[in-house]
Amino acid sequence: MMIEPERRFGRWEVLEKTNERRNSQIMYLCRCECGIERLVDSNSLTRGKSRSCGCLRSDIVSEMDNNRKLGREALLRLNVDGTICAVRPGDCE
Ligand SMILES: [Zn+2]
Repeated sequence: MMIEPERRFGRWEVLEKTNERRNSQIMYLCRCECGIERLVDSNSLTRGKSRSCGCLRSDIVSEMDNNRKLGREALLRLNVDGTICAVRPGDCE
């Protein structure tokens, strides 16, 4: 699957396609909203496995903490594999 530059996946913005391959997946140079640039494989992007450099995850963890402190209903859950699923539109596949 071809990914066009400037497409956004979560916090990633695709900058360019590279000649790198990982597990036969094309690697794309992506920039996170926080400014970190990293190579991400096409599969992770299109399947929503990677949505940020990791800052989304830390944001979500602190939001979970806040919710807990405030006694709010948890809108987020931590999956057994360590990934976080945010129960909000757009944050969760
Ligand atoms: Zn980031």
